[in-house]
Amino acid sequence: DPVEPVDPARELKELASWQRPLRDEFPIIRRNPELAYCDSAATTQKPQAVLDAVHRYLTTSNANAGRGSYPWANTTTALVEDARDRVRRFLGDPDPERSSVHFTSGTTEGLSAVARDWLPELVADGDEIVVPFADHQANLTPWLQARELLARQGVRISVRELPRQQGSGDYDPVALADAVGPRTRFVAATHVHHVYGGDMNVHRVRQAVGPEVPICLDAAQSIGHLPVSVADLDVDFVVFSGHKAMALPGTGAVWARGRRGPAFRPGGWSGTPNTVGVASLTAALDWLDAAGTDRIERWTTALTSRLTDGLGRMDAYEVLGCQTSLAARSRVQRRRSIVTFRHREIGAQDLGFILFSRGFMVRSDGHCQAGGAHGGGRTETSVRVSLHVHNTPEEVQELLIALASLQ
Ligand code: PLP
Repeated sequence: DPVEPVDPARELKELASWQRPLRDEFPIIRRNPELAYCDSAATTQKPQAVLDAVHRYLTTSNANAGRGSYPWANTTTALVEDARDRVRRFLGDPDPERSSVHFTSGTTEGLSAVARDWLPELVADGDEIVVPFADHQANLTPWLQARELLARQGVRISVRELPRQQGSGDYDPVALADAVGPRTRFVAATHVHHVYGGDMNVHRVRQAVGPEVPICLDAAQSIGHLPVSVADLDVDFVVFSGHKAMALPGTGAVWARGRRGPAFRPGGWSGTPNTVGVASLTAALDWLDAAGTDRIERWTTALTSRLTDGLGRMDAYEVLGCQTSLAARSRVQRRRSIVTFRHREIGAQDLGFILFSRGFMVRSDGHCQAGGAHGGGRTETSVRVSLHVHNTPEEVQELLIALASLQ
């Protein structure tokens, strides 16, 4: 898996004139020049185009979807159907006639829906599923719960761990071969780790399981940060949160290959969808495509690399996850937009408060990381800095100065 060496300084210089106007498109960022929002992995800020789309929808055609035959209702129904196609296009779906898109409130609801509604169709008594034990809790609990529900119906499945490599944190190609067996019927994986920021090598998972086993990808931290192509990744389900990709809170989607039903909620179309959220999601995906997820990826990866390198030079901090930056190119796994660390003496909560007093909004807690197969051990707290297209080299520089002053 060779990775092209990249020089962050050159990347940031090349992309500066592209990034500057995009930053100005976020009203909340423009209005708060003294603050640096570094918590996009929790939820993203919204560009003006998304706010406009929400306002436009609510002031011109707000109605319920899938019922009523007057123009506002028709417009709303079309909006929801068009949004499914928008998601397909955003994911580079090569076969839109044979896929389905379901709207959810976020990744947690999406993964739970796959586990509850689709997993039971894919497994039989004695089968195995392979899932990550130490990624986000939302990508573990639903599979464990599904196992319990199936067991009550007399279908016993076992849950095995999707193994990681020591050091890099990427999925381990050697251990994967052991984890996967002839009874493996389903794999859940994560695209970008929400604490370590590592871009997980999903191709390895596909290679290990072969072409037939469905893979469900938690793309919460990759959608909007880098191009996500279902054809390239060769996965069967993609689950993501709209609110982490510039859309409104309470939005998300599941894309599923070759499956059109069943409805997630009993009652199906008799439930009212989050129409305004869907309107925001369409606008958000339009905005991301226009900005270019390839350039967003280059920008945030270069910023993250600077931050990792800077922290690596300070003894007071321990960076979690893969230690190498973009500049150190021998390691193959790239770190995407997320850097999580601990101060050797100052607690994470305190460090979070100190950083806020200097204008930086970061996350400091256990980050909903799954503690093990049974939700056991708790993750220690740490500070997570997560960046997006509006963050600047100056913010990273000032953050490093603030962190250096606490050594
Ligand atoms: N999966 C990952 C990797 C995440 O980072 C998150 C949120 O932080 C989730 C799932 C849950 O997303 P949501 O809170 O939108 O349901």
